[in-house]
This record gives sequence, C-alpha cells and structure tokens, in this order.
Amino acid sequence: MNAEALSLIDKLSIEHRLSAEEYEFLILNRTADLSKLLAQRACEVRNRIYGNTVFIRGLIEIGNFCKNDCLYCGIRRSNRNCMRYRLTDDEIMDCCHEGYALGFRTFVLQGGEDAQNSDERICALLRRIKAAYPDCAVTLSLGERSYDSYAALRQAGADRYLLRHETAVKSYYEFLHPKEMQFENRVRCLKDLKQLGYQVGCGFMVGAPDQTVRHIASDLVFVQEFQPQMCGIGPFIPHKDTCFAERAAGSAELTCFLLSILRLIKPNILLPATTALGSIASDGRERGILSGANVVMPNLSPSAVRKKYMLYDNKISDGEESAQCIDALKQRMKTIGYEIVTDRGDIKL
Ligand code: SAM
Repeated sequence: MNAEALSLIDKLSIEHRLSAEEYEFLILNRTADLSKLLAQRACEVRNRIYGNTVFIRGLIEIGNFCKNDCLYCGIRRSNRNCMRYRLTDDEIMDCCHEGYALGFRTFVLQGGEDAQNSDERICALLRRIKAAYPDCAVTLSLGERSYDSYAALRQAGADRYLLRHETAVKSYYEFLHPKEMQFENRVRCLKDLKQLGYQVGCGFMVGAPDQTVRHIASDLVFVQEFQPQMCGIGPFIPHKDTCFAERAAGSAELTCFLLSILRLIKPNILLPATTALGSIASDGRERGILSGANVVMPNLSPSAVRKKYMLYDNKISDGEESAQCIDALKQRMKTIGYEIVTDRGDIKL
C-alpha cells in the first residue's frame, strides 16, 4: 500500500483533520486495500461510540412542489412531467402514527421549497407531532428559509435540520444551480440553524456532473470546519427530465470511501447510508454501514405518493427501503453484525 496514503490515514485518525491537498491525495491514490483499511478504522471509531447499533429515521416526503430549479433534481420547478402532490397534515400524522408503531422515534419531514409550507403550517404540525409523540425527535428538511423562520420552527419543536450544502465551492455551486440560488445563502442558512441549536446536517452528492476530486476535497474541509452533527452524502444519479439526464452516475465505491473519511473527521457524526446509495447498488446500505455509516432512513410516505418524489431515476421506495419492511431491513443489518434500535438516535457527545 502507498506509504504516504497510509500515513495520512493515521494522521486523520489521530488529528481528525487534513488539508484539501491531503484529502485529494488520499482519494486519488485509493485502492481496494486502502479502502478496506480506512473502513476498518472508521468502523472501530464508530463502534467505540455507538456499538453495533444502527439508528433509523422515518422519512416522510411531505410534498414535491418546489420553487427551485436545481439542475440535477427531478422535482425541479421546470420539470413538467413531475406529478405534483402535497400531503395534508392528517396524512402526515397518519405516517407518524404508523411509524411510531413500527419503532421509529425520529420523523424526518422532507419536501421541496413550497410556499404552502408556511411557518404557521409547519409550526402547527410540529406542535401536533410533539404533543402526540413527545418521545420522538423531528427533523426538518425543507430547504432555505429565513433566520426568523428557522427560529419559529425550532421554538415549535423541530430538533434537527438537514440542508445539504451541495458543494463548498462557489463556482461549482453556480454550475449546479440557477442564478437565483446563492451559495452564500446556503451557508448562511446552515450557520443560522447551528446558532439556533438545531442538530444540523449538511452534505453533498458524489460524482455530480463535472465534479472534481478538488471539489470533493473542499467538501471534506467544509465538514471539518463546520462540524455538523449529521452529514448526508450519496451518489449523484441522473434524472431523465433534467439537464443532466445523459450524465454518468456517481459510484457506490467512492461514496463508501468518503463515508469512512467523514467518520474519521468527526467520530460521533450521524452518518446515513442514504437512499441514493441503496438505489445505485442493491447492497448499498450494507456497504455504507460497513464503511462507517450508522443511520438508515426508510421511507414512511404513503405508498401512493412515493413514486412521485422522484429526485433521480430508479429511486428505490419499496422493499427494505419501505418503513413497513423494517423487519427485512433489520434482518439484513443483522446479517452484517448490526442492530437496528428503537431510539431517538441523538448524537452522542
Ligand atoms: N428541498 C430540500 C433541500 O433543498 O434541502 C430537501 C429536498 S432535496 C430534493 C434533497 C436532496 O436530494 C438534495 O440536497 C440533493 O443533494 C439530493 N438530490 C437531488 N437530486 C439528486 C440526484 N439527481 N441525485 C442524487 N441526489 C439528488
């Protein structure tokens, strides 16, 4: 194995940080053996903190109306083929009810940026969920909002917020997004969320169009500086109705390598083996966990709308991806030595 790469893994394990150039070197010089060693280190570190437990989150995709036009995303505003839907508050409560009975103690409310998701609506919904399930955490993933809006949602009971930074490089952010979306605002949102006491998740796609290893290295430096409680990464997967329909998908292999690096950057980070990873490879979730991830987010949305929240082609939503099939997922995790637990799954400090 490359001696320099080995010494960088040692350095990362001890200091939990590297320079962008060092990350770049590690990524460019990765081999099967190096990835295996990195994954072993990542699993040791995670197991010391979380044992062999895997946290679950019930993902409720509350609607796919979106005012944004992100070039890579299947629910972008300009996709006329997207069949739009919006769950009612009662439908969302039904999802929570079903999820609670299945053992979920975190509900993730995710959706496009929809003006109907006003502070009034989401605050009332949060109060309803928290009153009915006081032992559960609620995570929101509703995009960019104002400081006051995030403050109101936090006050109403939101515990966590997922907002991928998408990329830490401004020029590349501008390549992936229309001009009305600004990198500075994305970062402002993440900082506001942290200041308001949310457990915050950032993240990025792996293998997105024209992404370079230098871009990815910048993402890793961003994570090590920002110190989020969670980080969601998954391979880019093209969607037929977007500008990037013809582009190649990212790889499960590089995603897993990066999961191991992220675990070593922040040993207690909450790291999901994402739906995109499970969509690109049938054993993606298991490979993610074996690379250092410790969270899975099965789909709790009503089955009638699942196919409409199509961020990319062939996104999985049934089988073990479905919350209703949690027993099958438990069995798969057990096969690789891990145990899904009924727990809010907060970060361990
Ligand atoms: N609107 C919210 C937001 O912007 O955070 C939540 C929904 S958004 C669709 C969730 C994430 O899906 C994005 O942060 C993006 O990284 C991911 N995503 C979108 N299109 C994708 C694609 N083609 N391949 C992989 N991931 C994609």
